[in-house]
Amino acid sequence: MSARPPGFRLGKVLATSFTGTLTERRGDPVERIPTPQRLIDWLAVNGLAVESCTTAQLERARELRESIHAAATATAIQDPLPAPAVQVINDCSIQGRAAAVLTPERNRQWQLSSASRVEDALSVIAADAISIIAGERDGKLALCASPTCRAAFFDTSQSRTRRWCDMNTCGNRQKKARFNANQRTTADGKAG
Ligand SMILES: [Zn+2]
Repeated sequence: MSARPPGFRLGKVLATSFTGTLTERRGDPVERIPTPQRLIDWLAVNGLAVESCTTAQLERARELRESIHAAATATAIQDPLPAPAVQVINDCSIQGRAAAVLTPERNRQWQLSSASRVEDALSVIAADAISIIAGERDGKLALCASPTCRAAFFDTSQSRTRRWCDMNTCGNRQKKARFNANQRTTADGKAG
């Protein structure tokens, strides 16, 4: 029986969905794009379909991912941007040849210069990261409150008080932990 690869956590923001392909960074990290095929799958789900991906392209993608994570984290805690991360983000942005195209249904789609150009897809992700780190979009970068996660996410809530990268995973786990702690307190109370 072959183990199924870990599923994807998909958010509304391309760049932070991409950094979310490595989760539990401060705990037991889960690599969600362990193979070139899984990067192909992730890109397809995010409207950036490519036909092939080499190991070198996967490595480049992970390098971009970690650079976005570093720059987004620095932004969330108001630290200066790490220069090597900025360099990788900019290089990836420059090296791509993707074009935005409009569909008759008024959707924007990305057209890559060729089906084997992972670099084009990465440039779209890099440009998305640039727009949120530069503060161009309505929202704020923040870090997940889960101590084993600390993922950078883009908070678009009106009050800008979102605490978790993902309500269904980190948020839920926190709620359950609090519930269990309460249960224990109640049980202890009864025993004593
Ligand atoms: Zn989280």
